[in-house]
Amino acid sequence: MATFIVLLGPPGVGKGTQAEILADTTKLAHVSSGDLFRENLKNQTDLGKLAKSFMDKGELVPDDVTISMIRERLSRPDCEAGAILDGFPRTPAQADALEKMLAEFQGRVDYVPFINAAEAILVERASGRWTCRAQGHIYHQKFGPPKRTNICDVDGSELYQRDDDKVETVSKRIKVYLEQTMPLVEYYRQKGVLVGIDGSQTVEQVTEKLLSALKK
Ligand code: ADP
Ligand code: ADP
Repeated sequence: MATFIVLLGPPGVGKGTQAEILADTTKLAHVSSGDLFRENLKNQTDLGKLAKSFMDKGELVPDDVTISMIRERLSRPDCEAGAILDGFPRTPAQADALEKMLAEFQGRVDYVPFINAAEAILVERASGRWTCRAQGHIYHQKFGPPKRTNICDVDGSELYQRDDDKVETVSKRIKVYLEQTMPLVEYYRQKGVLVGIDGSQTVEQVTEKLLSALKK
């Protein structure tokens, strides 16, 4: 049975940062829906052009295109043992679609960490985020700066600030998250796989909590 970990939590809480670390330790693939959309945006694909109009407003990209993008990603060989899902599912319809996909791929959602922190922390983190052009590696101007200004430590590419990390758009994304994604917390709690994680601490402290809950 392939193992899938779903990272739940509001924008800016640290899902991408923790997903990179967890992928390293568990050797599972890191599948980030936001990164996949941004890759399409960079390559100016039709999907990228469609997604951009929603992303710029801080709204969710429609379920059907999101689901088919993820289905394609999860059918690649590096997901055979499972994956860490970062940013998907984000609506009840996406969670249902994931169940169906996993039945087909013989996978199971084993662990759903729900990482949370106060809104002021989310806004401070997202608005200071710097992202790498080449592969989406994540930095923070104050909490996790790169060794060289504006250059990714890992691949040497340029760092940029996402258009949707402006304070107004972050607040809109938090609102959308509360309305459309929060129901998933209850959904996974009822399945018995949800674990609450305090996301307000340092990266290292959050990782430690995630890993100790994973071992159980
Ligand atoms: P998400 O994927 O949930 O939107 P990210 O992992 O991209 O969140 O993190 C948002 C920003 O906050 C990034 O700039 C990241 O470097 C920073 N960050 C992540 N975790 C922490 C933490 N525990 N403490 C301080 N800053 C953090
Ligand atoms: P964050 O990590 O800060 O929450 P993401 O990179 O996950 O941000 O998402 C950025 C944007 O990409 C979202 O605001 C939304 O427009 C789009 N997006 C990402 N994942 C999904 C999804 N599962 N369903 C619909 N839209 C999504």
